[in-house]
Amino acid sequence: MTNRTFTMIKPDAVANGHIGAILEKVTSAGFKIVAMKYTQLSRRDAEKFYAIHKERPFYGELVQFMTRGPIVSAILEKDNAVDDFRALIGATNPAEAAEGTIRKLFATNISENAVHGSDSDENAAIEGAFHFSGREIY
Ligand code: ATP
Ligand code: MG
Repeated sequence: MTNRTFTMIKPDAVANGHIGAILEKVTSAGFKIVAMKYTQLSRRDAEKFYAIHKERPFYGELVQFMTRGPIVSAILEKDNAVDDFRALIGATNPAEAAEGTIRKLFATNISENAVHGSDSDENAAIEGAFHFSGREIY
């Protein structure tokens, strides 16, 4: 068990002006930001990041969405980071997300759902290393 997870504030939430409000929820929930950048995914980046979903019907739409504008990517630290962050963001579909969760508050729909959160310690490490070099992590 590690104490880190990886997140992205997705293009919908950035475009809708929610970066500040989302970061406020994240830090208020006890997560420490150990790496962060404002960047835009290339098509190649998004295809690689979401390769696990390649066979799903929404893959093309997902790559299109994730590359259409800037994102904020970050590595977060807290005890039980992966599970606690998934709880903080809520269900994939905001219509099913619990009250007060980041997706309930800021997501548009199941495809444009405001934030990403790693689903395991193993993927948190892989995803963090995909976005940040060692010297960018504090
Ligand atoms: P994320 O990995 O972004 O944190 P998640 O783990 O809650 O989200 P996944 O099943 O990993 O959900 O799906 C990855 C992303 O693909 C979702 O966040 C969403 O943007 C998109 N997605 C998932 N399911 C659908 C769907 N049925 N229709 C359209 N887009 C979808
Ligand atoms: Mg996922």
